[in-house]
Amino acid sequence: MKFLCIPCDEVMDFAERQIPGDGTMAAVFACGGCGREMAMLTNPMETQMVSSLGVKVGGREVPAQALEGVRSGLDGGHEEAFVEAPPTPGPVAWSPEAIERLQNVPSFVRGMVKRIYTDYARERGIGTLTPEVMDTARSDLGLEGM
Ligand SMILES: [Zn+2]
Repeated sequence: MKFLCIPCDEVMDFAERQIPGDGTMAAVFACGGCGREMAMLTNPMETQMVSSLGVKVGGREVPAQALEGVRSGLDGGHEEAFVEAPPTPGPVAWSPEAIERLQNVPSFVRGMVKRIYTDYARERGIGTLTPEVMDTARSDLGLEGM
């Protein structure tokens, strides 16, 4: 399954997939040319149909994930995530950069995405969410390359 950015005539890159657990699915695609994003939402019946057709949303192969994990590790994402703030069980703060990045998420899935990252940080005692933490969370939670 692919989406085409008509102004750029370019295949959009798969950016994110969310499966809240109630059978619905949200997939976000972004255009590498103009940065335009679009999202596809499916209800439980449609999700099942897409699954039964064997459609791989995002269309990437499984081995790419392993490489991505290594790459984000080499970037130092993990270290920064834990040096940034001492473990706190309390509320999770969002750095301005992280909030900025969250603005790129389509508004109708932003709340869900924010909750996933916040839960991730809280469970690990990370007091401040930064873009680096978001990167680590994405690969840890398998939110990319699916
Ligand atoms: Zn475009």
